Amino acid sequence: MEKLTKIVATVSDQKCDPDFICELYEAGMDVVRINTAHQQPEQTQKVIENVRMLSARIPFMIDTKGPEVRTNMAKEEMVVVKGQLIRVIGHATETSCKDCLYVNYPDFVKHLAPGKMIMIDDGDIALTVVEQHDNHLICRVENGGTIKARKSVNLPGTVLDLPSLNEKDLLYIDFSIKNDVDFIAHSFVRNKEDVLAIQRILDKHNSRIKIIAKIENQQGVDNIDEILDHVYGIMIARGDLAIEIPAERIPGLQASLVKKCVRRKKAVIIATQMLHSMINNPRPTRAEVSDIATAVFSGTDAVMLSGETAFGKYPVEALQIMTRTAREAEKSKSFHIDSKVLPHDNYISVFLSKTAVRSISKLNTKAIITDTDTGKTARYLSAFRGRTPIYAQCYDQRVMRELALNYGVFADYMDVETSKKTFIRSTLTRLISQEEIKLEDLIVVLAGNFGKKAGPSFIEISTAGSMLQ
Ligand code: PGA
Ligand code: MN
Repeated sequence: MEKLTKIVATVSDQKCDPDFICELYEAGMDVVRINTAHQQPEQTQKVIENVRMLSARIPFMIDTKGPEVRTNMAKEEMVVVKGQLIRVIGHATETSCKDCLYVNYPDFVKHLAPGKMIMIDDGDIALTVVEQHDNHLICRVENGGTIKARKSVNLPGTVLDLPSLNEKDLLYIDFSIKNDVDFIAHSFVRNKEDVLAIQRILDKHNSRIKIIAKIENQQGVDNIDEILDHVYGIMIARGDLAIEIPAERIPGLQASLVKKCVRRKKAVIIATQMLHSMINNPRPTRAEVSDIATAVFSGTDAVMLSGETAFGKYPVEALQIMTRTAREAEKSKSFHIDSKVLPHDNYISVFLSKTAVRSISKLNTKAIITDTDTGKTARYLSAFRGRTPIYAQCYDQRVMRELALNYGVFADYMDVETSKKTFIRSTLTRLISQEEIKLEDLIVVLAGNFGKKAGPSFIEISTAGSMLQ
């Protein structure tokens, strides 16, 4: 049996030949994520073409950079030492020099009062603001190093009024629509407005792209409820989150965000540094393996790989280890049905889904089969986090790809005209021939007799053999 927890793997244009993509896919990659921070559309296009050459079933997640601050280009290398005072200025284009650092947000200075921290390059270099002048800051270096160009600038506890979308984001939203990708993962989402800014563009183009909000600062955490109202799912982006918020608070926060998403039937991805040491080493640390297992125990839909697959030395090994660890964790996980999964609009769907999942432990059923027009029925079933796969028959290729992100769902596509009435038979036949199920296995079918709007109206439980007769 395949793992139930999904894996999002980051693929870069530097390393995306078809054979490599095939190896990643076979090792358990479910979704391809493309980080556009250091790419141009032509390069992204190349990744998409190579993946599509292999299979039309693999969904794409395009990562936009969102409202973030970065260091500008530098005239010369900027080496700073602990205790040194440097000037920091906000400007769109000006280049940094010896003891004057430029960052790319013009209004930077007015938001940073004395005492505030500035964390550069994932926090490798930390500055404290000591003086705030009209057009520059004087900052003390707390831990030194070399400040490089185009590096991240995190400001714990500081709220900036950056626009929801920058020019590159707009370029990539347009690119995503034209290339018919599946998800846009927007960085540094602070509130619903950051999401709606994208949704309005998508609506204007009648695009069905789903938005994933990357939660990576305090504002995103504070406004999680309104954000969840408007997204398909979230990514717990621990890279930036653990700089903006003290790192020791992340594990607890991660657990409560996952629970909230499951209850609201929103997809949730736990991201960053899950197998970080495998960028350079063939074997993971014990703590990394444990981190993946903890994510699985928490009930996440997906876990993610970044540098490990984008530029690391052991990308396929990292995926294999992640897959094996997820599968083992699923075996030892204690399953229980969360009674707080929200019904939203359709109480019958929730009741039937819950009963279908409950039959796994009560009757030892081996699989759930359903058909789904919008993916909703499959997501309801997934929300109860059972221990068997959910085989979802879709009549829309896009829905099939979207469901690749959801826990436990294995979606397949069928032409609606020929298959709506016979989907149970054809799905069972396929699963038996693939040796996913046996004739004597008890199977649960969740389906409807009253059309798309009504959703599922019955469940049937019997052996695959008797259903086929
Ligand atoms: P990034 O997002 O890799 O695009 O920065 C993920 C994170 O911050 O964890
Ligand atoms: Mn980030």
